[in-house]
Amino acid sequence: MRVRTIIFGWVEMNKQAMQRLAKCERDGLCPACLQKIEEGEVLVRGCHSKCAKATYRAIAAGKLTDEGQVACGEWKPRSGGRSPSNPVSVKANLGVA
Ligand SMILES: [Zn+2]
Repeated sequence: MRVRTIIFGWVEMNKQAMQRLAKCERDGLCPACLQKIEEGEVLVRGCHSKCAKATYRAIAAGKLTDEGQVACGEWKPRSGGRSPSNPVSVKANLGVA
């Protein structure tokens, strides 16, 4: 019998990176460029879509890594969409399981 499993990847975020993301979220800033996010702007990984595109390009070019950007708080971890509200999902995403 074959069953589907989900493999999680983990990345260590230091305190500075957590603070950077928290500050951006609180102040409505893009974690990549630290500029204000305008009302109604489409966000990708918590960043301006143009910043996220630039990041994706840099990753494709091998200059940055997805994990590295998450680890330094310059964009948010990949998620399945909106932020989880279910306690189990929140706990799983925080990696405190
Ligand atoms: Zn930006």
